[in-house]
Amino acid sequence: MAVKTVKDIDLKGKRVLVRADFNVPLKEGVITDDTRIKAALPTLQYILEQEGASLVLMSHLGRPKGEPKPEFSLAPIAQRLSELLDRPVEMASDCVGSETAQMAEKLKPGEVLLLENVRYHAGETKNDAEFAKQLAKNGDVFVNDAFGTAHRAHASTEGVAHVLPSAAGFLIDKEVRFFEHLLSNPEKPFVAVIGGAKVSSKIGVLETLLDKCTTLVIGGAMSYTFLKAQGHSIGKSMIENDYIDTAKSLLERAQKAGIQVLLPLDHMAGREFDENTDPVYVDEVDLPDELIGLDIGMKTLEALKESISEANSLVWNGPMGVFEFENFAKGTLEVAEMVAACKGTTVVGGGDSVAAVNKFGFAEKIDHVSTGGGASLEFLEGKKLPGIAVLEK
Ligand code: ADP
Ligand code: MG
Repeated sequence: MAVKTVKDIDLKGKRVLVRADFNVPLKEGVITDDTRIKAALPTLQYILEQEGASLVLMSHLGRPKGEPKPEFSLAPIAQRLSELLDRPVEMASDCVGSETAQMAEKLKPGEVLLLENVRYHAGETKNDAEFAKQLAKNGDVFVNDAFGTAHRAHASTEGVAHVLPSAAGFLIDKEVRFFEHLLSNPEKPFVAVIGGAKVSSKIGVLETLLDKCTTLVIGGAMSYTFLKAQGHSIGKSMIENDYIDTAKSLLERAQKAGIQVLLPLDHMAGREFDENTDPVYVDEVDLPDELIGLDIGMKTLEALKESISEANSLVWNGPMGVFEFENFAKGTLEVAEMVAACKGTTVVGGGDSVAAVNKFGFAEKIDHVSTGGGASLEFLEGKKLPGIAVLEK
């Protein structure tokens, strides 16, 4: 399903109400990473280039739980946006109410108004229809570009779209195009690389991808539940005993469908789950009793290399090891490098996987690095995201 985008609706002379994702990390009121603000710029600049258009921006920040809390104010974002857009950004002290509506009403072409945190009101996360109408009073048309919250039906993402003519911004449009392409008609070989912490949190993703991929790579902590299901010894590695049967049946399904499954062949392990634990190389699938598997080993990496380099489509979710620990980052780092070198269409989704790709500096070489952790997982589970479904053509 394609979505309507900013290019499909008439913005001339309109006050354009934009839901962006300005939920940036702050430390003592100072923005420590403005990636999300920068990511919104193409859509904002496009709107400002339309004759007579003005901008009314809204976002959430943190979890103020339905009441005004100064530490969650969007004021620092107004300042940063003003620098990035190279024009003044006025700040409204609330996102609804007559004073705010008047400020929005008075906007001249090219002017920008930022509304205060939408989560200062309980109606936001409840998707309260009356609250959505109040928000809608601040614009003539609605543009949603907050992919990170698109999996939640909130007033500022889903609710307002029922009140105003609505479209997606460039960020959401790109997310939808890449994920839908992967899930509807991926070019084969289609390699799915799944890792991370838990089988339980990735069952939906594994099930959806099992129906579509030609090779399934399983790494990270969750691979130990799969190895145990195959009868291997996994030492003190992370295990979800309740999911061994699930892992067995997923492996059987893959085998019946003729899907190649690649599990760890060797490991980098440690005695403690600790940054400073001595790394021990284990040259086989089975781990001795006293060790915790913390990363995939070089034999495994060698085995993945061919599949990844020959993929015509690839999706990666979930780190291959505890990449936060320097001694156990190699598996994730090298997979990131292989994905970056892959000539096929490459997509990375998931909060920690994306953090790893950014940390190691490969984001530029990957076709699509998703901006939404939870939202990208739900997309990969084949779910319809409410904030996007409402924008479908
Ligand atoms: P994503 O956010 O990309 O979906 P997850 O949240 O599922 O990924 O998993 C990420 C976490 O998994 C990381 O914090 C990483 O340290 C952890 N992890 C990966 N491999 C292991 C392992 N072998 N043992 C313990 N934790 C692991
Ligand atoms: Mg995560």
